[in-house]
Amino acid sequence: MKFTNLFAPTTKEAPKDALLPSHKYLVRAGFVSQYGSGLYNYLPMGKMVLDNIRDIVKDEMDKTGACEIKMGVVIPADLWKQSGRYSVFGKELLRLNDRKNNNFVLGPTHEEVVVDMVRGKINSYKQLPMHLYQITTKFRDEARPRYGILRGREFIMKDGYSFHANEESMQKEFDLMEATYRKIFTRLGLDFRVVSADSGAIGGSGSKEFMVLANNGEDDIITCKNCEYAANIEASIRAKKTTQIEIPKANMAKFHTPNCNTITDVAKFFKVDEFYTVKAVIKKAIYVDKEEVVIFFLRGNDNLQETKAQNACGALELINANEEEIKKIGLIAGYCGPFGLNESINFFIDNELKDEKNLICGANEYEYHNIGMSMLNFNESRYRDLVEVSDSDRCSYCGGEFEVTKGIEVGHIFQLGQKYAKEMGATFLDENGKTKPFYMGCYGVGVSRLVAVMVEASHDEKGCIWNRQTTPFDLDIIISNIKNSDEFEFGNRIYQSLKEDGYSVLLDDRKERFGSKIRDFELIGFPYALIVGKGLKEGNVELVNRKTLEKTSFSVDKIENKIREILA
Ligand code: ATP
Ligand code: MG
Repeated sequence: MKFTNLFAPTTKEAPKDALLPSHKYLVRAGFVSQYGSGLYNYLPMGKMVLDNIRDIVKDEMDKTGACEIKMGVVIPADLWKQSGRYSVFGKELLRLNDRKNNNFVLGPTHEEVVVDMVRGKINSYKQLPMHLYQITTKFRDEARPRYGILRGREFIMKDGYSFHANEESMQKEFDLMEATYRKIFTRLGLDFRVVSADSGAIGGSGSKEFMVLANNGEDDIITCKNCEYAANIEASIRAKKTTQIEIPKANMAKFHTPNCNTITDVAKFFKVDEFYTVKAVIKKAIYVDKEEVVIFFLRGNDNLQETKAQNACGALELINANEEEIKKIGLIAGYCGPFGLNESINFFIDNELKDEKNLICGANEYEYHNIGMSMLNFNESRYRDLVEVSDSDRCSYCGGEFEVTKGIEVGHIFQLGQKYAKEMGATFLDENGKTKPFYMGCYGVGVSRLVAVMVEASHDEKGCIWNRQTTPFDLDIIISNIKNSDEFEFGNRIYQSLKEDGYSVLLDDRKERFGSKIRDFELIGFPYALIVGKGLKEGNVELVNRKTLEKTSFSVDKIENKIREILA
């Protein structure tokens, strides 16, 4: 392609809200442009990169025997009501009405549509397993769309859905998808980890996420330095926390504790380790039809993991409860404990406190704490895993040390079990002629997010550095001065010759100064540039490697073969 035909509006100005290199460079280099909050256009080169990624994803998916389909973005709300998700999905689900006042949603994910599609059409175990996937637009009304296309509201996902006669078959496909995703991200040249994950609003049992390691990532990942264990912090487990510090043995008693409304104060007051105190985190849980204050109790030296807390109470969202709301139900902030709470108050206790003795906790009375308390007699259903695992914790499998790293989620695979098929009445006849709901798996890759991830993973202070798998063009032939007929002819000749043989080349034939052409090359980040400039008089041209910025001079009669060799 010739640069004069290319729509690639490069600019020096980064968007004001751009914090990440990928956001800045993708806009500055003319890959994407924003037209609304969380809404982006893909300009020609952005589309090329997107297609390159799409092709790799499709190639690996097709190899597994999955079939590509295409479902619509606009979905009748009725399908979402059948699965029960219409009311529980939260505000990310954009709901709309048509002229007849029928309810619709914009698809944030397509379990319902695909179940409806196969329902009554796959009737026998003989037609199973079946895997259908698509690479299309999703819409999620994200609370905080940010970082450009990394977290857009409209984005492109590869989403696949598999149907099975039994759990073993579902597990087998899950393993195949893990292997397939590993191949996809390896082909893209990314440094990633596969981690245990929380299943979120998609639901089901086991799920794994694929995380690209990046300092700018939004996700925290816990990895064991000694074994294979790796998990998103939202789903991390640890060996039960212990301490060498002496147990504060005491008989049950109530103490006046003036000015002790933090764990630090309480531990200091009683001269004990925070380990032996009980912390109360008070939240407001938002449900579809109500709001309620919920208390989470954990060790004084632990922190609450919000996703775990949200899963415990099943809320759509957890927010901080304000003073007034706390007071209204008779709680006293700073002095709240699990004993003697009003029966109407909902609370959960961290698993690690189960059966623990000699604890100090709030007495639910202003400036009073209880000591010598035992966590006995609470209903089993009160206990949940609530703690945020940190790098000071130990691995529950091998006792090894933990490390916390940042990652960007690029893929997520789920074992759904019979959840959707049961809710929506999607069944088949098994070998014994019995009616059974399908077992399902679902599998997502953030195809458009990957465009940004490629830049997060590979850039420098001048711009993007694309690899050969994803770059819009492998080589940028820069004619230094198009008015120089020798330069113009040489550039055009080598461009034509390479192009005819199928090489991916761009000819920078613009009437611009050399400086701005080379700056665009560096900003856009093609792997190589060929500079056809003043050296041509002496029979030399220069090849630039974008990654190293190294320039090498070649004689005009050797350069074409050299390029063919490098790009082969
Ligand atoms: P996140 O935790 O980042 O919000 P998610 O868990 O909601 O993602 P999934 O439902 O698992 O996402 O979707 C599958 C994949 O789609 C994710 O792994 C991610 O790569 C991509 N994705 C999800 N939300 C967005 C978004 N708002 N913008 C771009 N890509 C997204
Ligand atoms: Mg996810």
